[in-house]
Amino acid sequence: MLDDVLRRVDELSSWAVGLLMKVIEEKAVNPSFGGEGEYRRAQLIESELESIGLSVERIDAPDSRVPEGVRPNIIAKLKGESEKTLWLISHLDTVPAGTLSLWETDPFKPVLKDGRVYGRGAEDNGQAIASTLLAARAMVEAGAKPKLTIGLIYASDEEAGSKLGLEYIFDKVGFKKDDLIVVPDAGNSDGSLIEVAEKGIIWLKLRVEGKEGHASMPHRALNAHRIGMRLAIALDELFRTRFSSQNPLFDPPYSTFEPTKHEANVENVNTIPGVDVLYFDCRVLPEYRLDDVVEAAEAVAEVFEKVYPGARVEVSTTNRIDAPPPTSPDSEVVKRLQEAIRLTRGIEAKPGGIGGGTYAAIFRARGYPAAVWCTVDETAHQPNEYAKVENLVGDAKVFAAVPLL
Ligand SMILES: [Zn+2]
Repeated sequence: MLDDVLRRVDELSSWAVGLLMKVIEEKAVNPSFGGEGEYRRAQLIESELESIGLSVERIDAPDSRVPEGVRPNIIAKLKGESEKTLWLISHLDTVPAGTLSLWETDPFKPVLKDGRVYGRGAEDNGQAIASTLLAARAMVEAGAKPKLTIGLIYASDEEAGSKLGLEYIFDKVGFKKDDLIVVPDAGNSDGSLIEVAEKGIIWLKLRVEGKEGHASMPHRALNAHRIGMRLAIALDELFRTRFSSQNPLFDPPYSTFEPTKHEANVENVNTIPGVDVLYFDCRVLPEYRLDDVVEAAEAVAEVFEKVYPGARVEVSTTNRIDAPPPTSPDSEVVKRLQEAIRLTRGIEAKPGGIGGGTYAAIFRARGYPAAVWCTVDETAHQPNEYAKVENLVGDAKVFAAVPLL
């Protein structure tokens, strides 16, 4: 039976590539980053699921920022011999394209070239959308009766914290503790990494308030931008020295603290900015508490307020996910994934940790052992993001094999 299903996966590969390209074209940038489009992308996926013959349910979360007023979340099921379910959980939304001049093609016009599909969201999380649908369709068309029920979820809002996506639907879905939960949203290029642990995440916002003034009269102003730059450098150094532990389970094996977004300040060159707002993306090893990171930043902010009389430095967090306890490398989901990867791809996959921010953290925080796995070159959030057709098809084979073995 497995052989028939795997053959059908190969036969359907160009359909799956076409589907991935349609998904990319249906631009779905998260509204928190000024986008929209999850709704239309969800409609596309829903109609594919229905034409395959799966039962489909929608649980939408209200959100007045988007034209439809809701954020869609799709739950589809293919009944197996048992109620026990293999959940394959993907996300609908993407991050924005980033700097357009760095792209060689239009990020929202997918291009298939040399076995790769290029476009924003190709890898993150389009490949998973296409590979999970491919696995389900091959299973149905080969007439396979899987031992486990297959549950497919396509949720909104993953890139901005999942409050209107997986978090919103979590209690309504009815996950069971012995279900197998697989999140195809991180991995490595040969498919040998099964992610079982993630770092804690915190996005720090630093708002510096000084006094706006004419650039020729700095003694009458207080340049918030200068203070902001110095603050960023001070924090950059402090974080790296204070939180320097290494943990070989992770790649990279240390905590990371990156100054990222900087808000636009004055519109003209000859005004001294009175406000400066900058952000740090922090990925912190589970051996540290995220509160320690916030407290360290607050202590520096206090020092800056003393050094620059009249300045105010506010520290806040715009996203926070404390690192949940890792999934055991001996858990059923890891063992069964390893077996399916070995059997269909001949790869010995090993459990490891990453910088995090996937759905698995939401499951692990509630005591569900979740594994993150797919085969990717890790081009997510970068210019010229792509998904390899070979990876899409190979991943679908693994997803189809798990409930059949
Ligand atoms: Zn993702």
